[in-house]
Amino acid sequence: MNAALIIIGNELLSGFTLDSNSTWMGRKLLNIGIKTMIKLTVGDSENAILDSLRSVDEKYDIVILSGGLGPTHDDVTKKAYCEFIGAELVFDESYFLKLSESFKRRGIDIPESNRDQAYIPTKGEIIPNSRGSALGLKFVKDKTRFYVVPGVPSEMMTMMDEYILPELSEIAPHDLIITTIRTTGLMESALFDTLKDIVKSTKVDVSFLPGFMGVDIRLSSRNKKAVMELSSNIYDLIGKFIYSEDWETLEEAVGRLLREQGLTIAVAESCTGGLLSDRITNIPGSSDYFLGGMVTYDNQAKQDLLGVQTYTLEEFGAVSEQTAKEMAQGVRRVFQGNIGVSITGIAGPGGGTDEKPVGLVFIGLDFEGDTEVRSFTFTKERRFNKELSAQAALNMLRLSIGG
Ligand code: AMP
Ligand code: MG
Repeated sequence: MNAALIIIGNELLSGFTLDSNSTWMGRKLLNIGIKTMIKLTVGDSENAILDSLRSVDEKYDIVILSGGLGPTHDDVTKKAYCEFIGAELVFDESYFLKLSESFKRRGIDIPESNRDQAYIPTKGEIIPNSRGSALGLKFVKDKTRFYVVPGVPSEMMTMMDEYILPELSEIAPHDLIITTIRTTGLMESALFDTLKDIVKSTKVDVSFLPGFMGVDIRLSSRNKKAVMELSSNIYDLIGKFIYSEDWETLEEAVGRLLREQGLTIAVAESCTGGLLSDRITNIPGSSDYFLGGMVTYDNQAKQDLLGVQTYTLEEFGAVSEQTAKEMAQGVRRVFQGNIGVSITGIAGPGGGTDEKPVGLVFIGLDFEGDTEVRSFTFTKERRFNKELSAQAALNMLRLSIGG
Protein backbone atom coordinates (compact mmCIF):
# COMPACT_ATOMS: atom_id res chain seq x y z
CA MET A 1 0.00 0.00 0.00
CA ASN A 2 1.22 3.46 -0.78
CA ALA A 3 0.42 7.03 0.09
CA ALA A 4 0.74 10.57 -1.17
CA LEU A 5 0.94 13.55 1.18
CA ILE A 6 -0.22 17.02 0.27
CA ILE A 7 1.09 19.53 2.77
CA ILE A 8 -0.60 22.90 2.56
CA GLY A 9 0.52 26.30 3.79
CA ASN A 10 2.24 29.41 2.44
CA GLU A 11 4.38 29.54 5.56
CA LEU A 12 5.88 26.16 4.68
CA LEU A 13 6.96 27.37 1.25
CA SER A 14 8.34 30.68 2.43
CA GLY A 15 10.44 28.93 5.06
CA PHE A 16 8.80 30.47 8.12
CA THR A 17 7.56 27.10 9.38
CA LEU A 18 9.33 23.80 9.08
CA ASP A 19 7.06 21.03 7.82
CA SER A 20 7.16 18.47 10.60
CA ASN A 21 3.75 17.00 9.79
CA SER A 22 4.84 15.02 6.76
CA THR A 23 7.86 13.46 8.48
CA TRP A 24 5.68 12.40 11.37
CA MET A 25 3.01 11.01 9.05
CA GLY A 26 5.57 9.23 6.88
CA ARG A 27 7.00 7.41 9.88
CA LYS A 28 3.62 6.52 11.33
CA LEU A 29 2.39 5.20 7.99
CA LEU A 30 5.51 3.15 7.44
CA ASN A 31 5.03 1.62 10.88
CA ILE A 32 1.85 0.01 9.63
CA GLY A 33 3.32 -0.98 6.29
CA ILE A 34 2.22 1.98 4.14
CA LYS A 35 4.95 3.58 2.06
CA THR A 36 4.78 7.26 1.24
CA MET A 37 5.75 7.66 -2.40
CA ILE A 38 5.31 11.37 -2.95
CA LYS A 39 4.94 14.52 -0.92
CA LEU A 40 3.78 17.80 -2.36
CA THR A 41 4.07 21.09 -0.53
CA VAL A 42 1.44 23.49 -1.79
CA GLY A 43 0.56 27.09 -1.01
CA ASP A 44 -2.80 28.28 0.31
CA SER A 45 -4.29 28.54 -3.17
CA GLU A 46 -7.43 26.79 -4.29
CA ASN A 47 -6.03 26.21 -7.76
CA ALA A 48 -2.73 24.87 -6.54
CA ILE A 49 -4.48 22.49 -4.14
CA LEU A 50 -6.80 21.31 -6.92
CA ASP A 51 -3.82 20.76 -9.21
CA SER A 52 -2.06 18.71 -6.58
CA LEU A 53 -5.18 16.60 -5.94
CA ARG A 54 -5.61 15.91 -9.64
CA SER A 55 -1.95 14.99 -9.99
CA VAL A 56 -2.16 12.23 -7.37
CA ASP A 57 -5.68 11.04 -8.18
CA GLU A 58 -5.98 7.33 -8.97
CA LYS A 59 -2.24 6.82 -8.51
CA TYR A 60 -2.07 6.12 -4.79
CA ASP A 61 -4.09 4.13 -2.29
CA ILE A 62 -4.16 6.87 0.29
CA VAL A 63 -3.91 10.64 -0.02
CA ILE A 64 -3.58 12.76 3.10
CA LEU A 65 -3.88 16.54 2.99
CA SER A 66 -2.75 18.62 5.95
CA GLY A 67 -3.28 22.33 6.62
CA GLY A 68 -5.50 25.15 5.50
CA LEU A 69 -8.50 24.19 7.61
CA GLY A 70 -8.33 27.23 9.87
CA PRO A 71 -11.02 29.90 10.13
CA THR A 72 -9.19 32.66 8.23
CA HIS A 73 -9.49 33.83 4.63
CA ASP A 74 -6.31 32.05 3.56
CA ASP A 75 -7.61 28.64 4.59
CA VAL A 76 -9.07 27.25 1.38
CA THR A 77 -8.35 23.54 1.59
CA LYS A 78 -11.96 22.60 2.24
CA LYS A 79 -13.16 24.51 -0.83
CA ALA A 80 -10.61 22.88 -3.10
CA TYR A 81 -11.39 19.45 -1.68
CA CYS A 82 -15.14 19.93 -2.27
CA GLU A 83 -14.56 21.07 -5.80
CA PHE A 84 -12.39 18.01 -6.38
CA ILE A 85 -14.88 15.47 -5.00
CA GLY A 86 -17.89 17.33 -6.42
CA ALA A 87 -19.51 18.28 -3.11
CA GLU A 88 -21.18 21.42 -1.79
CA LEU A 89 -20.58 22.96 1.61
CA VAL A 90 -23.62 23.19 3.86
CA PHE A 91 -23.94 24.85 7.22
CA ASP A 92 -24.23 22.33 10.06
CA GLU A 93 -26.26 23.97 12.81
CA SER A 94 -25.60 21.27 15.38
CA TYR A 95 -21.82 21.41 14.96
CA PHE A 96 -21.96 25.20 15.16
CA LEU A 97 -23.86 24.97 18.46
CA LYS A 98 -21.36 22.48 19.80
CA LEU A 99 -18.51 24.77 18.78
CA SER A 100 -20.23 27.82 20.35
CA GLU A 101 -20.65 25.92 23.62
CA SER A 102 -17.02 24.92 23.76
CA PHE A 103 -16.03 28.57 23.25
CA LYS A 104 -18.52 29.61 25.93
CA ARG A 105 -17.00 27.15 28.39
CA ARG A 106 -13.71 29.00 27.92
CA GLY A 107 -15.55 32.26 28.55
CA ILE A 108 -15.36 33.49 24.95
CA ASP A 109 -18.12 34.44 22.50
CA ILE A 110 -17.53 32.46 19.33
CA PRO A 111 -15.78 34.67 16.75
CA GLU A 112 -17.70 35.20 13.52
CA SER A 113 -14.89 33.66 11.46
CA ASN A 114 -15.31 30.31 13.23
CA ARG A 115 -18.72 29.93 11.53
CA ASP A 116 -16.85 28.73 8.45
CA GLN A 117 -15.69 25.68 10.34
CA ALA A 118 -19.28 24.50 10.68
CA TYR A 119 -19.66 24.20 6.89
CA ILE A 120 -19.57 20.52 6.03
CA PRO A 121 -19.23 18.82 2.62
CA THR A 122 -22.35 17.09 1.29
CA LYS A 123 -20.24 14.04 0.41
CA GLY A 124 -17.90 11.86 2.40
CA GLU A 125 -17.42 11.73 6.15
CA ILE A 126 -16.24 14.10 8.80
CA ILE A 127 -13.57 13.26 11.36
CA PRO A 128 -13.95 14.64 14.89
CA ASN A 129 -11.22 16.87 16.31
CA SER A 130 -10.76 16.39 20.05
CA ARG A 131 -8.08 19.09 20.18
CA GLY A 132 -9.49 21.94 18.17
CA SER A 133 -12.32 23.33 16.10
CA ALA A 134 -11.45 22.27 12.53
CA LEU A 135 -13.09 19.01 11.51
CA GLY A 136 -11.18 16.45 9.51
CA LEU A 137 -12.60 15.06 6.27
CA LYS A 138 -12.65 11.75 4.51
CA PHE A 139 -13.77 10.64 1.08
CA VAL A 140 -13.30 7.36 -0.74
CA LYS A 141 -13.08 7.89 -4.47
CA ASP A 142 -12.72 4.73 -6.54
CA LYS A 143 -9.68 3.01 -5.06
CA THR A 144 -8.21 6.04 -3.34
CA ARG A 145 -9.00 7.21 0.18
CA PHE A 146 -8.65 10.93 0.76
CA TYR A 147 -8.19 12.36 4.23
CA VAL A 148 -7.93 16.01 5.21
CA VAL A 149 -6.43 16.90 8.60
CA PRO A 150 -5.59 20.22 10.30
CA GLY A 151 -2.10 21.71 9.99
CA VAL A 152 -1.67 22.35 13.72
CA PRO A 153 0.67 19.47 14.61
CA SER A 154 -1.03 18.46 17.88
CA GLU A 155 -4.46 18.37 16.19
CA MET A 156 -3.10 16.49 13.18
CA MET A 157 -1.37 13.89 15.38
CA THR A 158 -4.39 13.34 17.60
CA MET A 159 -6.70 12.89 14.61
CA MET A 160 -4.25 10.48 12.98
CA ASP A 161 -3.68 8.50 16.18
CA GLU A 162 -7.31 8.36 17.25
CA TYR A 163 -9.01 7.85 13.95
CA ILE A 164 -7.04 7.55 10.73
CA LEU A 165 -4.17 5.24 11.69
CA PRO A 166 -6.37 2.67 13.47
CA GLU A 167 -8.63 2.65 10.40
CA LEU A 168 -5.73 2.29 7.96
CA SER A 169 -4.10 -0.29 10.14
CA GLU A 170 -7.04 -2.58 9.49
CA ILE A 171 -6.61 -2.46 5.75
CA ALA A 172 -2.81 -2.17 5.59
CA PRO A 173 -0.84 -5.29 4.69
CA HIS A 174 1.52 -5.12 7.72
CA ASP A 175 4.06 -7.06 5.77
CA LEU A 176 6.98 -4.74 6.29
CA ILE A 177 8.92 -5.25 9.50
CA ILE A 178 10.71 -2.11 10.62
CA THR A 179 12.91 -1.71 13.63
CA THR A 180 14.92 1.32 14.55
CA ILE A 181 17.87 0.71 16.83
CA ARG A 182 18.85 3.96 18.51
CA THR A 183 22.46 4.55 19.50
CA THR A 184 24.43 7.32 21.09
CA GLY A 185 28.11 7.76 21.93
CA LEU A 186 29.63 6.32 18.75
CA MET A 187 30.17 8.17 15.46
CA GLU A 188 28.49 6.95 12.29
CA SER A 189 31.80 5.95 10.68
CA ALA A 190 32.94 3.96 13.72
CA LEU A 191 29.52 2.36 13.95
CA PHE A 192 29.59 1.41 10.30
CA ASP A 193 33.11 -0.03 10.54
CA THR A 194 32.02 -2.26 13.40
CA LEU A 195 28.87 -3.40 11.64
CA LYS A 196 29.86 -3.43 7.97
CA ASP A 197 30.47 -7.16 7.68
CA ILE A 198 27.08 -8.16 9.03
CA VAL A 199 25.34 -5.34 7.17
CA LYS A 200 26.86 -6.40 3.85
CA SER A 201 25.89 -10.02 4.26
CA THR A 202 22.21 -9.49 5.15
CA LYS A 203 19.17 -9.21 2.93
CA VAL A 204 17.61 -6.72 5.33
CA ASP A 205 17.53 -3.07 4.23
CA VAL A 206 19.78 -1.15 6.60
CA SER A 207 20.02 2.63 6.82
CA PHE A 208 22.26 4.64 9.10
CA LEU A 209 20.54 7.84 10.12
CA PRO A 210 23.02 10.09 11.88
CA GLY A 211 21.65 12.89 14.01
CA PHE A 212 23.33 15.44 16.18
CA MET A 213 22.90 13.35 19.34
CA GLY A 214 23.43 9.87 17.96
CA VAL A 215 22.84 7.48 15.11
CA ASP A 216 19.66 5.55 14.45
CA ILE A 217 20.02 2.28 12.56
CA ARG A 218 16.88 1.37 10.69
CA LEU A 219 16.24 -2.20 9.61
CA SER A 220 13.41 -3.03 7.26
CA SER A 221 12.43 -6.19 5.48
CA ARG A 222 9.50 -8.46 4.82
CA ASN A 223 11.46 -11.28 6.40
CA LYS A 224 10.87 -11.05 10.14
CA LYS A 225 13.37 -13.75 11.01
CA ALA A 226 16.13 -11.96 9.10
CA VAL A 227 15.39 -8.69 10.92
CA MET A 228 15.48 -10.40 14.30
CA GLU A 229 18.72 -12.18 13.49
CA LEU A 230 20.41 -9.02 12.30
CA SER A 231 19.12 -7.06 15.26
CA SER A 232 20.51 -9.60 17.68
CA ASN A 233 23.92 -9.53 15.91
CA ILE A 234 23.94 -5.74 16.17
CA TYR A 235 23.23 -5.95 19.90
CA ASP A 236 26.15 -8.36 20.31
CA LEU A 237 28.54 -5.96 18.61
CA ILE A 238 27.45 -2.55 19.88
CA GLY A 239 24.98 -3.26 22.70
CA LYS A 240 26.57 -0.71 25.02
CA PHE A 241 25.75 2.13 22.65
CA ILE A 242 22.11 1.20 22.14
CA TYR A 243 19.69 3.10 24.35
CA SER A 244 16.34 2.13 22.91
CA GLU A 245 14.35 1.01 19.92
CA ASP A 246 11.85 2.71 17.66
CA TRP A 247 10.36 5.88 19.08
CA GLU A 248 11.73 5.92 22.60
CA THR A 249 14.02 8.87 23.35
CA LEU A 250 17.05 8.72 25.59
CA GLU A 251 15.28 10.59 28.40
CA GLU A 252 12.32 8.22 28.12
CA ALA A 253 14.64 5.20 28.28
CA VAL A 254 16.41 6.64 31.33
CA GLY A 255 13.08 7.43 32.99
CA ARG A 256 11.81 3.93 32.33
CA LEU A 257 14.94 2.37 33.88
CA LEU A 258 14.85 4.64 36.93
CA ARG A 259 11.20 3.85 37.54
CA GLU A 260 11.71 0.10 37.08
CA GLN A 261 14.48 0.14 39.65
CA GLY A 262 12.80 2.56 42.03
CA LEU A 263 15.72 4.99 41.91
CA THR A 264 15.65 8.77 42.35
CA ILE A 265 17.95 11.40 40.89
CA ALA A 266 18.92 15.02 41.40
CA VAL A 267 21.03 17.12 39.09
CA ALA A 268 23.43 20.04 39.49
CA GLU A 269 24.06 21.95 36.31
CA SER A 270 26.47 24.69 35.46
CA CYS A 271 27.14 25.20 31.74
CA THR A 272 23.90 23.55 30.61
CA GLY A 273 21.81 26.09 32.55
CA GLY A 274 18.98 23.68 33.32
CA LEU A 275 18.84 21.86 29.98
CA LEU A 276 19.33 18.45 31.57
CA SER A 277 16.48 19.09 34.03
CA ASP A 278 14.37 20.30 31.13
CA ARG A 279 14.92 17.11 29.15
CA ILE A 280 14.27 14.88 32.15
CA THR A 281 11.06 16.73 33.05
CA ASN A 282 9.74 16.67 29.48
CA ILE A 283 8.72 13.10 30.24
CA PRO A 284 5.27 12.75 31.80
CA GLY A 285 5.51 11.12 35.21
CA SER A 286 9.13 12.17 35.77
CA SER A 287 8.16 13.25 39.28
CA ASP A 288 8.35 9.54 40.14
CA TYR A 289 12.14 9.67 39.95
CA PHE A 290 13.31 13.26 39.50
CA LEU A 291 13.74 15.01 42.84
CA GLY A 292 15.04 18.33 41.57
CA GLY A 293 17.81 20.24 39.92
CA MET A 294 19.96 23.24 40.67
CA VAL A 295 21.60 25.60 38.25
CA THR A 296 24.74 26.54 40.14
CA TYR A 297 26.36 28.85 37.66
CA ASP A 298 28.44 30.99 39.95
CA ASN A 299 31.27 29.59 42.08
CA GLN A 300 29.63 30.96 45.20
CA ALA A 301 26.45 29.03 44.37
CA LYS A 302 28.49 25.85 43.91
CA GLN A 303 29.95 26.39 47.38
CA ASP A 304 26.86 27.60 49.23
CA LEU A 305 24.26 25.29 47.72
CA LEU A 306 26.27 22.16 46.95
CA GLY A 307 29.12 22.37 49.43
CA VAL A 308 31.90 22.44 46.84
CA GLN A 309 35.05 23.37 48.75
CA THR A 310 36.83 26.70 48.31
CA TYR A 311 40.08 24.80 48.05
CA THR A 312 38.75 22.68 45.19
CA LEU A 313 37.62 25.69 43.19
CA GLU A 314 40.88 27.60 43.79
CA GLU A 315 43.21 24.68 43.18
CA PHE A 316 41.49 22.93 40.27
CA GLY A 317 38.96 25.45 38.96
CA ALA A 318 35.20 25.30 38.44
CA VAL A 319 35.64 23.21 35.30
CA SER A 320 37.50 20.25 36.68
CA GLU A 321 37.09 16.63 37.60
CA GLN A 322 37.24 17.49 41.31
CA THR A 323 34.49 20.14 41.09
CA ALA A 324 32.23 17.85 39.05
CA LYS A 325 32.72 15.16 41.66
CA GLU A 326 31.83 17.42 44.59
CA MET A 327 28.85 18.85 42.71
CA ALA A 328 27.41 15.38 42.06
CA GLN A 329 27.97 14.32 45.65
CA GLY A 330 26.59 17.62 46.94
CA VAL A 331 23.38 17.56 44.96
CA ARG A 332 22.69 13.96 45.91
CA ARG A 333 23.15 14.90 49.57
CA VAL A 334 20.92 17.99 49.31
CA PHE A 335 18.06 16.11 47.64
CA GLN A 336 18.63 12.82 49.46
CA GLY A 337 18.40 10.80 46.26
CA ASN A 338 20.06 7.63 45.01
CA ILE A 339 21.89 9.36 42.20
CA GLY A 340 23.42 12.82 41.81
CA VAL A 341 24.49 14.05 38.37
CA SER A 342 26.59 17.12 37.69
CA ILE A 343 27.72 19.03 34.63
CA THR A 344 30.42 21.69 34.55
CA GLY A 345 32.14 22.88 31.41
CA ILE A 346 33.26 25.69 29.16
CA ALA A 347 30.41 26.33 26.75
CA GLY A 348 32.24 29.10 24.87
CA PRO A 349 32.77 31.04 22.75
CA GLY A 350 35.08 32.71 25.30
CA GLY A 351 36.76 31.38 28.43
CA GLY A 352 38.92 28.69 26.87
CA THR A 353 42.66 28.23 27.50
CA ASP A 354 45.24 25.84 26.05
CA GLU A 355 44.86 23.61 29.03
CA LYS A 356 41.07 23.91 29.19
CA PRO A 357 39.69 24.60 25.73
CA VAL A 358 36.15 25.66 24.83
CA GLY A 359 34.00 22.55 24.75
CA LEU A 360 35.72 20.86 27.70
CA VAL A 361 33.03 19.40 29.96
CA PHE A 362 33.18 17.27 33.09
CA ILE A 363 30.19 15.15 34.01
CA GLY A 364 29.97 13.64 37.45
CA LEU A 365 27.72 10.87 38.65
CA ASP A 366 27.39 9.82 42.25
CA PHE A 367 25.47 6.60 42.72
CA GLU A 368 24.94 6.02 46.43
CA GLY A 369 28.47 7.11 47.27
CA ASP A 370 30.25 5.65 44.23
CA THR A 371 31.38 8.60 42.19
CA GLU A 372 32.66 8.62 38.64
CA VAL A 373 33.61 11.61 36.51
CA ARG A 374 34.12 11.63 32.77
CA SER A 375 35.57 14.41 30.69
CA PHE A 376 34.50 15.28 27.15
CA THR A 377 35.79 17.73 24.58
CA PHE A 378 32.90 18.79 22.40
CA THR A 379 32.77 21.68 19.91
CA LYS A 380 33.43 25.41 19.67
CA GLU A 381 29.70 26.14 19.50
CA ARG A 382 27.98 27.20 22.69
CA ARG A 383 24.56 25.72 21.90
CA PHE A 384 26.01 22.43 20.64
CA ASN A 385 28.10 22.12 23.79
CA LYS A 386 25.04 22.53 25.97
CA GLU A 387 23.03 19.97 23.99
CA LEU A 388 25.87 17.47 23.81
CA SER A 389 26.60 17.81 27.54
CA ALA A 390 22.99 17.07 28.48
CA GLN A 391 23.01 14.12 26.07
CA ALA A 392 26.27 12.72 27.47
CA ALA A 393 24.96 13.10 31.05
CA LEU A 394 21.78 11.20 30.18
CA ASN A 395 23.86 8.52 28.53
CA MET A 396 26.15 8.15 31.58
CA LEU A 397 23.05 7.91 33.69
CA ARG A 398 21.67 5.20 31.42
CA LEU A 399 24.89 3.18 31.56
CA SER A 400 25.10 3.50 35.34
CA ILE A 401 21.68 1.92 35.76
CA GLY A 402 22.25 -0.89 33.33
CA GLY A 403 20.51 0.50 30.23
P1 AMP B 1 -3.53 25.59 9.30
O1 AMP B 1 -4.27 24.34 9.57
O2 AMP B 1 -3.03 25.68 7.91
O3 AMP B 1 -4.31 26.80 9.74
O4 AMP B 1 -2.21 25.58 10.19
C1 AMP B 1 -2.15 26.11 11.47
C2 AMP B 1 -0.74 26.17 11.99
O5 AMP B 1 -0.18 24.86 12.04
C3 AMP B 1 0.23 26.97 11.14
O6 AMP B 1 0.35 28.28 11.55
C4 AMP B 1 1.55 26.28 11.33
O7 AMP B 1 2.27 26.87 12.40
C5 AMP B 1 1.18 24.88 11.72
N1 AMP B 1 1.43 23.97 10.61
C6 AMP B 1 0.69 23.86 9.49
N2 AMP B 1 1.18 22.92 8.68
C7 AMP B 1 2.27 22.42 9.30
C8 AMP B 1 3.25 21.40 8.95
N3 AMP B 1 3.16 20.73 7.81
N4 AMP B 1 4.25 21.16 9.82
C9 AMP B 1 4.32 21.84 10.97
N5 AMP B 1 3.46 22.80 11.35
C10 AMP B 1 2.44 23.09 10.52
MG1 MG C 1 -2.40 27.52 7.02
